[in-house]
Amino acid sequence: MNITFLGTGTSVGVPSVGCECDTCLSDDPRDKRLRTSVLVEHQGQNILIDASTDFRQQALRIGLKHLAAILFTHSHADHCFGLDDTRPIMFRDGAIPVYASELTWQGLKRIFSYVFEPAGYPGVPRIVPHSIESDFSLVGLNVEPLTVIHGQLPVTAFRIDRFAYVTDCNFIPDESCARLRGLDLLVIDALRFKKHPTHMTLEQSLGYIERLEPRRALLTHISHDIKHAETSEHLPENVEIAYDGLVAEVG
Ligand SMILES: [Zn+2]
Ligand SMILES: [Zn+2]
Ligand SMILES: [Zn+2]
Repeated sequence: MNITFLGTGTSVGVPSVGCECDTCLSDDPRDKRLRTSVLVEHQGQNILIDASTDFRQQALRIGLKHLAAILFTHSHADHCFGLDDTRPIMFRDGAIPVYASELTWQGLKRIFSYVFEPAGYPGVPRIVPHSIESDFSLVGLNVEPLTVIHGQLPVTAFRIDRFAYVTDCNFIPDESCARLRGLDLLVIDALRFKKHPTHMTLEQSLGYIERLEPRRALLTHISHDIKHAETSEHLPENVEIAYDGLVAEVG
């Protein structure tokens, strides 16, 4: 299984429009972060986790042609506004199965109401909606949905084999922590240094990493407060800051 980081930036992306901070002006390509999303590849099939605002650019960058499924963590704009841009794949391959929690579906149905209109305009995304409440199987992989907390909002994290994707949260309940042990790769939210009402600080992320003991951890959903090279020097050995285009192998 290969995990490709399509985007690792917070909701406004890095650089942030109009900002002239050190990170936003950095020449380091690892400081250029599109909105957060990953592609999971297994036996030639692709699972997209979140269709970010930057999906079109991300897909063109890696030459993406097919999607076996899309999983949504939640319906915040930065994680779902790219759904419309997955249409070329649907026009070629037919409807794509989309998996989200009932709560996330409520948001997606509001945002993309035109997708659900009976006999609506033909050029809309073609999806087969699935509501996820328990484990399900995709392209020969077991997908385990877990709940994490994003301020007040329950968000879906995913464990797939010995990989887990935990973005947009500032709290992981004990029952979810218990299911995040024995990982080869944990991808986890680490927004910035200062406390935030809905995202983890770097310190909070490192605390969870210490507790969950993954073999390797990669940080994502990063704001311009964190400059890749500078911050990387101070991280534990098994922790790295993810960057756009990074491919991590699991298993
Ligand atoms: Zn987000
Ligand atoms: Zn900045
Ligand atoms: Zn969010």
